[in-house]
Amino acid sequence: MALIIDGNAVAAAVKDEVRDEVSRLAAAGVTPGLAVVLVGDDPASATYVAMKERDCAQAGVLTFDHHRPADISQDELNAIIDECNADPKVHGILVQMPLPKHLDAEEAVARIRPEKDVDGFHPASLGRLVRGVDGPRACTPWGVMRMLRHYGIELTGARAVVIGRSTIVGKPMALMLLEENATVTVCHSRTRDLPAVCREADVLIAAVGRAKMVTAEYVKPGAVVIDVGINRGEEGGLVGDVDYASVEPVASAITPVPGGVGPMTRAMLVANTVAAAAEAAGR
Ligand code: NDP
Repeated sequence: MALIIDGNAVAAAVKDEVRDEVSRLAAAGVTPGLAVVLVGDDPASATYVAMKERDCAQAGVLTFDHHRPADISQDELNAIIDECNADPKVHGILVQMPLPKHLDAEEAVARIRPEKDVDGFHPASLGRLVRGVDGPRACTPWGVMRMLRHYGIELTGARAVVIGRSTIVGKPMALMLLEENATVTVCHSRTRDLPAVCREADVLIAAVGRAKMVTAEYVKPGAVVIDVGINRGEEGGLVGDVDYASVEPVASAITPVPGGVGPMTRAMLVANTVAAAAEAAGR
């Protein structure tokens, strides 16, 4: 029986810390604020944004809603970002992805002032991560690191394998594991004999976007398995990248989907926003 890594419980612990920090800032007259930029009517994006706004409200973080129709121009999007950049009540800016195809996501992210980049996707934030300098970290891998720390999972000297090399999950995940002294391998769609590479892992992180792809064949007995994937299952619910039923008996610890990495991503966004507010206030 694997230990079930409970993302909801760890997220609740993060939120408790964040609430304490919000109270401390309130005593100094500072209320953290997050600008939420949502373009278009993608239902999944609307749901994610609503959940993020609810988390902020629960933590005492103000949100400033910028919902625009799908056909806004890049100039209009840039103008919203500029306005948020200049607003002292806004400490963090979230541009919900994906943007409609005619908009340039790279341009939008790069336009955010780095100190308000609470998603951790800005080139300056990623550069800081590469250099090992403090700064906003990408919420999903940062949340995974927090979960591993919470459960006392040893990373120094461990073999870690990350499946996926995206800029928002796989690459920053690998760098964060490296920062904690793991020996890291990053796999992708061209990796040869993926199951064999994954079987070398003491800590296996799946961030692929393919439902239940990681079966027991990929997992060394006793490995820790973190499932970042969020996919629509055949019966309509959410399923991860890991085939939980076959992997759970082999692993020593595993995250469920839902209730694993997802709640952590949102908690780290709130934490990053509060940290940005503290930094801006010099507190
Ligand atoms: P991307 O599509 O950007 O990246 C997927 C990665 O997986 C790519 O590097 C790709 O390789 C690799 N890959 C695809 N197919 C295979 C395969 N058959 N074998 C090996 N590698 C493969 O996805 P994201 O990183 O944005 O997201 C990954 C998953 O995590 C998704 O399910 C997403 O929904 C979820 N997610 C969950 C979050 C959460 O809060 N829990 C937050 C963000 C994402 P290549 O580069 O060669 O194409």
